[in-house]
Amino acid sequence: MAAQQNLFTFEAEPWEADDRRDRLIATVVFPAGVEQPFDYEVPEPLRASIKIGQRVEVPLGRGNRPTVGYCVKLAPNTTSQHKLKSVGRIIDERPLLTPAMLNLTRWMADHYLCTWGTTLQTVLPAAVRAKQTLREITQVTLHPQVHQRLAASQPPKITPKQQAVLAYLTKNPATISLADLARQCECTPGPIQSLAKKGLIKLTKRFVGEGVGVEADTPSEAQLKLNQDQTRALAAIIDPMRAGEHATILIHGVTGSGKTEVYMQAIDETLSFGRQAIMLVPEISLTPQTRERFQARFAQVAVLHSHLRDAERLWHWERIARGEVSVIVGARSAVFAPCSRLGLIILDEEHEGSFKQSETPRYHARDVALWRAREESVPLVLGSATPAIESWHRAQSGQAVLCELPRRVSNRPLPDVLTVDMRDARQVRGALSRQLQNAMKQTLADRGQIILLLNRRGYSTHIQCPGCGFVVRCPDCELPLTHHRTGEIAVCHYCDHSERAPAACPQCKLPGLRYSGMGTQRLEAEVKASFPEARVLRMDTDTMKQPDSHARAFEAFSKHEVDILLGTQMIAKGLDFPNVLLVGVVNADTALHLPDFRAAERTFQLVTQVAGRTGRGERGGRVLVQTLNPDHYAIQAASRHDYAQFAAQEMPLREGGHFPPIWPLARVIVRGPNEQVAQATAQTLADQVRKNLEQLTPDLRLLGPAAAPMPKLRNLYRFHFLAQAADEGHLRTALRQAQLSAAPPEEVQWVVDIDPQEML
Ligand code: ADP
Ligand code: ZN
Repeated sequence: MAAQQNLFTFEAEPWEADDRRDRLIATVVFPAGVEQPFDYEVPEPLRASIKIGQRVEVPLGRGNRPTVGYCVKLAPNTTSQHKLKSVGRIIDERPLLTPAMLNLTRWMADHYLCTWGTTLQTVLPAAVRAKQTLREITQVTLHPQVHQRLAASQPPKITPKQQAVLAYLTKNPATISLADLARQCECTPGPIQSLAKKGLIKLTKRFVGEGVGVEADTPSEAQLKLNQDQTRALAAIIDPMRAGEHATILIHGVTGSGKTEVYMQAIDETLSFGRQAIMLVPEISLTPQTRERFQARFAQVAVLHSHLRDAERLWHWERIARGEVSVIVGARSAVFAPCSRLGLIILDEEHEGSFKQSETPRYHARDVALWRAREESVPLVLGSATPAIESWHRAQSGQAVLCELPRRVSNRPLPDVLTVDMRDARQVRGALSRQLQNAMKQTLADRGQIILLLNRRGYSTHIQCPGCGFVVRCPDCELPLTHHRTGEIAVCHYCDHSERAPAACPQCKLPGLRYSGMGTQRLEAEVKASFPEARVLRMDTDTMKQPDSHARAFEAFSKHEVDILLGTQMIAKGLDFPNVLLVGVVNADTALHLPDFRAAERTFQLVTQVAGRTGRGERGGRVLVQTLNPDHYAIQAASRHDYAQFAAQEMPLREGGHFPPIWPLARVIVRGPNEQVAQATAQTLADQVRKNLEQLTPDLRLLGPAAAPMPKLRNLYRFHFLAQAADEGHLRTALRQAQLSAAPPEEVQWVVDIDPQEML
């Protein structure tokens, strides 16, 4: 019988050889199926080679099914006579996880209330879990002198098969693997190898995935001389680094204020200590522009983007673990880069929602980075023009050092922002007010470029019958479908259900459904009609489906092959085009009235970010913000580029409602195929959590349960409630107790989202 082990008593103590006296006990965590770790005896032959962080195969359950798990602890046992099952075999030659990473995964399981096995799986790339070693392949290239040699009077004797191989390589100059070449030429490796012996082709060995996403070049760019604000920010990072201490540094700097230059010099300093730096950016910012900037500066940069294939990811992972890569640039999951000599973590655009994972484990890269930076005693840099209120609060309360970069480099002014009151009906013809139309005309006449933001894709947002009022809805989610002109389809933006757009009302059969609301696709049509001469490009998830479509769109825009770039929030991020003289926010209110305590913050961030896309060049720039709420503090503050004012008005609201960052928040989502059962389960769970909380603290709050703002998704009814306590530990204990004791009906699933970023 395997003894049960408390999930959270693990300590990553190294196993000393001298201690191997009596019995050696391995604690094993399973990736799925079994939640709690089990203890196993390590048999004599495995004692010398077993290490924590390796995977092992152990017998599990009544049937002793051989099952793979992670060895998370090794300890001698000299007292207990308890009989244990034995470890079957060791799977990995070397540990996949360092003690530090094991600690991190255990903390994540604890913090995000999921199993340890889940977090272990999360930090290891699939390929690392699937294969143990890198796979080597042989690559074939034509020898550079082959042309001269063939032309020579005495050609080496070659067979027809060899001739075919040479002909193929001459026609297809790209490198090819030996196996693929043999397949293409329908021959065995024999003729290819003899050609190599004759010196006509070259064979080189390399790993599968090698080289992709590596920016290894000779750095060509030198450091810039920092201005005073930058110098101060750099010192705030370097001082704790030299002292070997953790510190969180929040760099609040408007776009173009020189934050990235500070990051790069901080990385230089990290490298001079022989340490590694992790730089996290939103996936959308992993543009060629960003990559080239880092490539110009550092010799060994690994760029971990989501389009890497498994083998490529594996190759990077191994090199990072061996310390052969000094700078890792990547999206959210790069926070798990297995650096052995970590020296610095940076989160750029730290307010970005995409740093939070939306499925289990629902971790936030900022929180994971903070934990890791503390554990490894290294600085954490958070940078943004619009910091998350949570980060701002940390700085205000002394948990982070605030560094302000209030001015743009070279003192270029921030663009003027003008709000256009859309309540004034005379202004409005379609989506574009007269002011915005005029500004566009003027900009095009000046040969400037324009960015138009509309954070809603599709053609129309609603398809409604003017006769009976029927709204065409998703059969699975019951949310209104959005009309897409391409293919005349109606699409659900939540579950991707799509159907033919109906010609007549499905309910009263009246022909002539009304398509109302404005999406990017309709905006594009309107802009093209109003400015037939202009070259227009639309960017949203519908037009940007290919892996390289972003890069191509940005390239076209930067070469001024496009006059007007319009799209959803993906155009608001990190682009630096000096010729953009006008930014138009078509509807600033799209996010303002969502049932989410961050609605104002999101609106402020989006408008500020997109406004930062202009005024980068010599010719300045301006911004027009169309809104029905011109007096709203988020819109007002954004139009004055005044973060501090926004925060000053937002914070009392958070305090009044006890919302984060004042009290921590957990959201529980309950979903099931039967509406009544799901609702009743949500109620039972909420009661349970409240009871648990009441036993711990009077400082608690429970909101709901209620139907989620998205009440049905993929045929499941959704209810949610919010739980809060002044003390984070109390909140987690109450939820953990509920997880252990609750017995919801089998078809009902429930998930806990700690620090939720979205409320849908
Ligand atoms: P941010 O990351 O805040 O948007 P960047 O670091 O990209 O700002 O800087 C904006 C521009 O100013 C870049 O072109 C950068 O090369 C330049 N720059 C940054 N710091 C300096 C400096 N100290 N002296 C001169 N140019 C600078
Ligand atoms: Zn749907």
